[in-house]
Amino acid sequence: MSTVKFYSGETIPLEMHKVRIVQKLNLVPIERRLGAIAEAGNNTFLLRNRDIYLDMLTDSGVNAMSDRQLAAMMEADDSYAGSETFTRLETRIQDLFGMEYFLPVHQGRAAENIIARVFVRPGTIVPMNYHFTTTKAHIVLNGGSVEEIIVDEGLQVSSDVPFKGNMDVGKLQQLIDTHGAERIAFVRIETGTNLIGGQPHSLQNLREVREVCDRHGLMLVFDASLLADNLWFIKTREPACRDMSIREITRAIADLADIIYFSARKLGCARGGGICTRSQDAFLKMRELITLYEGFLTYGGMSIREIEALAVGLEETMDETMISQGPQFIAYMVEDLARRSVPVITPPGGLGCHLDAMRFLPHLPQAEYPAGALASALYLVSGVRGMERGSLSEQRGPDGSETFSNMELLRLAMPRRVFTLSQVKYAIDRIDWLYRNRDLVGGLRFVEEPKVLRFFFGRLQPTSDWQERLLARFRADFGDSL
Ligand SMILES: *Cc1c(COP(=O)(O)O)cnc(C)c1O
Repeated sequence: MSTVKFYSGETIPLEMHKVRIVQKLNLVPIERRLGAIAEAGNNTFLLRNRDIYLDMLTDSGVNAMSDRQLAAMMEADDSYAGSETFTRLETRIQDLFGMEYFLPVHQGRAAENIIARVFVRPGTIVPMNYHFTTTKAHIVLNGGSVEEIIVDEGLQVSSDVPFKGNMDVGKLQQLIDTHGAERIAFVRIETGTNLIGGQPHSLQNLREVREVCDRHGLMLVFDASLLADNLWFIKTREPACRDMSIREITRAIADLADIIYFSARKLGCARGGGICTRSQDAFLKMRELITLYEGFLTYGGMSIREIEALAVGLEETMDETMISQGPQFIAYMVEDLARRSVPVITPPGGLGCHLDAMRFLPHLPQAEYPAGALASALYLVSGVRGMERGSLSEQRGPDGSETFSNMELLRLAMPRRVFTLSQVKYAIDRIDWLYRNRDLVGGLRFVEEPKVLRFFFGRLQPTSDWQERLLARFRADFGDSL
C-alpha cells in the first residue's frame, strides 16, 4: 500500500498492484439469495459459489498470486526426488529464517500432526497465546492439553491495545511453577492469532517468552501461518522496530524460535506448508514421519508447482507494500464500520473484519446462535459470505448441553489482493443497513446436527419468518436494486 494523500484530505488504502486475470462474479437478486440460504440450511459453508458475490469465508488458499509466482510455476522442476524446485524453496527458507533444516508438508495441520506426534506425550501441556482449531485437535489427539495464556486484553472485543495477541509471560512462569518444566511439551506462539481476530504479538513479547523458555530449557514453537500480517503490525505498531526492514524483523523473530511451522495456504499465497528448525535432533525425529504421512522429503505432499510458487511468495512477503494490503483494507473496513457504530473487533487485526454478534444482535440468546444468524442475514441482504465463529462452532458437552463460546463473531476474511475497494465499500454499506434493521433479525435452530464439527455440515432453520420480513424491508429501501 502506498501513503498517498488525497487533495480532499481523505486517505484510502491505494492498491500497489494491477489486476491481470479476473474471475467473473455473480450478484443474484435477494429473492434467489433467500432460496440459496434455505437450500444451504442457513449454513454459509454449504452455499454454492455461483450464489455468492463476495466470498469472505476464509483467507485459506484463496489469496491472489503474483505474475512472478505464476511464471515460476511454469518453470518448476518436476521429479519425485532431488528436484531443483525443492532446493530453491529450502534455500529461500534458510535465507529468510536462518534455519538449516526444512521439511515440506501438504498443509498447516499436517505440520501440527507431525510436531504433536513427536513432542506431545500423554499428560503433557502445551502453553500457547491462543489455540487454533486444528492445533488443539492434534495436541489433544496425542494425549496432551492446551493452556491458553493470552494477555487479558486479548479477549476484550473493543480495545486500543496494539498487541492483543501477546502471551502473558507471568502466567507462563506460573504454569511452569505449578506443573514443573518436565510436564511442558513445548511453548507455542501463534503469530496473528487466528480465532481472536488476527491480533498480533510484539517482537518484545517473543523475547520475553524466549527468556522464560531458556531459563527452564523449554522448546519454543511458532505457528507462522499468519506471519505476514504480524510482520506489518510489528513494523508499524512497535516503535523499537520502526527502522527495521521486514526482512530484519522476520529474522529477529526466527532467531527466537526452535521450530517454525506454517500453512502456505496463507503464508506465501500458495498451498502446502512446512516445518523449519535449527535443531538437527528435532529434524531427524520429524523427518521419519514426513515420509510416512506426507510424501518424500523433496515434496511432502505438495505439487511441485505449489513449491515453486511458495518459494517466490515467501520472497514477496518481504515486500512491505505486499504485506500491508490485507491489514490496510481490513483497517479501512473496521474503522468505517466503527464510525457508523457497528460493533466490530478493535483495533483492526489481520485476516479479516470481525463483527461482534452479541452486540449486533443483543436481543438474541446464545442458544439461538447470534453469530450464525448474522452470517445468514448478511448473506441474504448482500451476497457476502462470512464464517460463524461462535457457539455454532463449538461442540456440545457429553450430556448434550451447549458450550457457549466466549465471543460470538462473524468473521469476514479479506483474502489478500483479491477484492477492490469498491467491493469493500459495498460490504460496509450492506452491513450498515443490516445494523440499522437489526431488530428484524431472528435466531436459528438446528434441524440436522452432526456430532462432530457440526458447523461444517449442520443444517438450521430460522426460528420465525424473520428472513421474509428482512427481504420485504430490503425491497422497500432499495427498490429493485440487487
Ligand atoms: C490455517 C491455520 C492452520 C492450519 O493450516 P491448514 O493449511 O488449513 O491446514 C494452522 N494454524 C493457523 C494459525 C492457521 O491460521
